[in-house]
Amino acid sequence: MPRSPSASPFTLPDPFSLLPRYPLLYSTPSPIHPLQTLTSSLSHPPTPTAPTYSLYTKREDHSSPLATAGNKYRKLEYIVPDILHHSTTTLVTEGAIQSNHTIQVAAVARKLGLKSIVLLGKDVGGGLGAARDKDAFLRSGNVQVARVLGADVRFVGSEPDPDPGPGSTGIDRDDPAEMVLKEVRRKGEIPYWIPSGASLHPLGGLGYARGAFEIISQEEQADLGGSGRFDYIFVACGSGSTVGGLIAGFKLIEKLARRDGPSPRKVIGILNSPTKPREYHEGRVLDFARRAGALIGLEPGDISMDDVWLDDRFVGSAYGVLDPKTKQTLEMMARTEGVILDPVYTAKVFRGMMHYVQHNELVPPPSPSEHINALFIHTGGQSALGAYVDVD
Ligand SMILES: *Cc1c(COP(=O)(O)O)cnc(C)c1O
Repeated sequence: MPRSPSASPFTLPDPFSLLPRYPLLYSTPSPIHPLQTLTSSLSHPPTPTAPTYSLYTKREDHSSPLATAGNKYRKLEYIVPDILHHSTTTLVTEGAIQSNHTIQVAAVARKLGLKSIVLLGKDVGGGLGAARDKDAFLRSGNVQVARVLGADVRFVGSEPDPDPGPGSTGIDRDDPAEMVLKEVRRKGEIPYWIPSGASLHPLGGLGYARGAFEIISQEEQADLGGSGRFDYIFVACGSGSTVGGLIAGFKLIEKLARRDGPSPRKVIGILNSPTKPREYHEGRVLDFARRAGALIGLEPGDISMDDVWLDDRFVGSAYGVLDPKTKQTLEMMARTEGVILDPVYTAKVFRGMMHYVQHNELVPPPSPSEHINALFIHTGGQSALGAYVDVD
């Protein structure tokens, strides 16, 4: 396994440090920077007793040298050793048409010298339905990137595949993934299945459990006001192991600190799809957090539903649809900070974070300053933006 040229800037406790990880990220942490213009715009609280805020963002879109860096690389770092262990020839995965996850799997395949097959579901979410130019939506943005990476891109779902690649099995309404796995095995090759967002993979939550340790190592250097911590951390909840992993990581950090310090850091997961109820996601996130927790040294009872805080107020009209309020947020961030969000996840998350701040929905940590440090995790996804060109 290749070694990073510089050592990790933080250490993990045992048994976490013993779990195999294949480096896909830069050896330095993804940057955290203040959102200065937005923070200044909040500097006059509406009442003298209201808290003041400092807003920051962690740039998981700048975490890896690989294609259109995003949050899946951090998860895949812990899955690659298992991929190699199985003598895999072909990674197989699935996602929505403009999936970022499948791009990251395709790039990892290339980095490892493997092939990839990506199944893009036409019926997943409302992105395709809402696009005025459906043909463009099926060819641009992340679909184009997947093809540039040499992935075997296959559309699945109710509509016929407009562009069946060589060797494509075309459409299978029953279980396209199973068909593809069989097809690869028939050729004498070894497929490796990575479920959507890598969340249902048993190792899927470890990357962001490690990410929590990275965040506290950056807190120490950031010279934050108030509690000196990121009191609230806002992150997308799609397939759920990003938020689940963070919950597990912060829980282990708290448990190891074993002292009455400031109140615990709170992770708030912002949902981006109205398809399934919040309770469904809460159950999954709790499972992912506990599963990661068991591998890093926590007991099942250490994490409870009280640790899972998901918000479904910002889901918009459908998964993958840029509703007017989310679009406003995307433009606001671009025009105040010069930072580009993605239309599917991060614009909804940031809309949520600004809502919490503007409506005083966050309780300051116990400190005389009544100050709140809020961290927005930018999980990437801007490469889908080109496919949303005709949204208005
Ligand atoms: C996949 C993805 C998410 C959601 O992460 P999950 O771990 O699936 O909840 C958020 N943002 C972007 C840009 C993504 O690609």
